Amino acid sequence: MDKEKKPSNFIREIIDNDLMLNKYAGRVHTRFPPEPNGYLHIGHAKSICLNFGIARDYKGLCNLRFDDTNPTKEEMEYVKSIEEDVKWLGFDWGNRLYFASDYFDTLYNCAEALIKKGKAYVCDLDQDKMSSMRGTVNEPGQDSPYRDRSVVENLDLFRRMKAGEFEEGARTLRAKIDMASPHMIMRDPPLYRIRKASHHRTGSKWCIYPMYDFAHCICDSIEKITHSICTLEFENNRVLYDWILNELGLYHPQQIEFARLNLSHTVLSKRKLLELVDGGYVEGWDDPRMPTLAGLRRRGYTPEAIREFCDEIGVAKFNSIIDVVLLENAIRSELNKTAARVMAVLHPLRIVITNYPEGKEEELVAVNNPEDMSMGTRRVPFSKVLYIERDDFREAPPAKFHRLSPGREVRLRYAYFITCEDVIKDKETGEIKEIHCTYDPETKGGDAPDGRKVKGTLHWVSARHAVRAEVRLYDHLFIKRNPEESDSGDFKSNLNPASLEIIDDCRIEPGIMDANPGSRYQFERKGYFFLDKIDSADEKRIFNRIVGLRDAWTKIEKNHPRQ
Ligand code: ATP
Ligand code: MG
Repeated sequence: MDKEKKPSNFIREIIDNDLMLNKYAGRVHTRFPPEPNGYLHIGHAKSICLNFGIARDYKGLCNLRFDDTNPTKEEMEYVKSIEEDVKWLGFDWGNRLYFASDYFDTLYNCAEALIKKGKAYVCDLDQDKMSSMRGTVNEPGQDSPYRDRSVVENLDLFRRMKAGEFEEGARTLRAKIDMASPHMIMRDPPLYRIRKASHHRTGSKWCIYPMYDFAHCICDSIEKITHSICTLEFENNRVLYDWILNELGLYHPQQIEFARLNLSHTVLSKRKLLELVDGGYVEGWDDPRMPTLAGLRRRGYTPEAIREFCDEIGVAKFNSIIDVVLLENAIRSELNKTAARVMAVLHPLRIVITNYPEGKEEELVAVNNPEDMSMGTRRVPFSKVLYIERDDFREAPPAKFHRLSPGREVRLRYAYFITCEDVIKDKETGEIKEIHCTYDPETKGGDAPDGRKVKGTLHWVSARHAVRAEVRLYDHLFIKRNPEESDSGDFKSNLNPASLEIIDDCRIEPGIMDANPGSRYQFERKGYFFLDKIDSADEKRIFNRIVGLRDAWTKIEKNHPRQ
């Protein structure tokens, strides 16, 4: 079976054990239950890979169920984006697309059933009053003065709530459990509340909506979910789910909790991500700096790399922060194998080869991917005027600087050895305008027949042939490893002011003209880049840097010591 290939984890062990005991007649049925109140992020990807991955490996099923019980925060845009993201990640819910709102009638009937059993009552306390009477972990709460209403009165009031007779907040339906329970969640939690809002699917049919805790366990039960996998914060809610399903005599899934993913240098909460979008701190949910799946896709991440990352981090029972470097490594090691190399100069400095004939040009052979020779070679034009990276030249080189400087010989990759003969500056500003070099025609291809060595190898493009492009370099969205830690109490104070650098005059070898939006490349020495699908236009090429070539910590540490 496929599952043998996956590393086991405590959830798979529970399932193996249940299968051995034939607990659900050999069935494995999971679900991914997003609330459509934002775009999915990398934390959701972990849950998707877990739920759909288990269904796949155990030849079971996984439903996609929108938990759309809150009409005021949910929108169709989010539903669409979530469906797109789950598909993009490579998973398929078949014909099992559900909405909690599909079950509103059933949920309503369940609520009436509890009332009829004397297990739920209509309470007139407002939210503040209700919470002030809940007590604390050390002290019991107080009973609501409405707790002993008769079944008949409760039914009547609940039906009138449904009919829209009362204002929002005027009344709630509460479970009648135990105001002294050591489990705070069991102190008569609300089950239904009045919300006079239109719902994205049921329109104005309802003005009362079930609370998440009431709806969630019943939805799982209706769909005959076997293993209801959720994050640790729901561990405390399990007693309530058990109580609801037991009182209603319904089928019980088994709930299993795991630690949610926290990723360094970013936030993974839809509420906070929405704050960044609404406040204009990023350009939208798909801003390439966002940890959303839409953002990662736009940046150039592949679904394979994200799945690989999710497999690698595994599942645990305790919360921790995973370094974003692990996510970066996943895409880096994939692209190292698959991305074609090209030469791109991000900050061009003009080089004139004084002894190269005017008007001459030649094509030099370059390897597309040294990690995979089957990707072949290409021809790159060379001519008298070239560009190299501005920071590959230093007039006064520090020790250990092995690139170009006055009098120094270096190799131009796949081309020739060149020697710096002269530095031409702007007379007024002193700015370096161009460098005059000579080349050694004997070193064609990048090796000297006399065996002499050079320490530096630079990438370059031919000025006449190169294509102009815009490059967007991204850095972590937050400076701090844990952005939640801030003196002001506002995670936004930890935003990285330099998270986006736009360079609009890069020069790339001409073969890039044929690239299709959505292609990925390694720009030699500069990182992995993705030809943006949205902002690129006919003549305008925009490349997003997916990730640098090496772990970016070195740079981060220098600018902002690791915190
Ligand atoms: P957020 O805090 O971002 O709003 P949420 O838990 O409220 O997240 P839901 O839409 O309710 O978001 O989540 C759908 C599923 O994804 C749930 O089963 C939830 O447990 C899981 N999930 C959400 N965030 C993470 C995360 N960071 N790591 C792992 N699973 C997550
Ligand atoms: Mg939620």
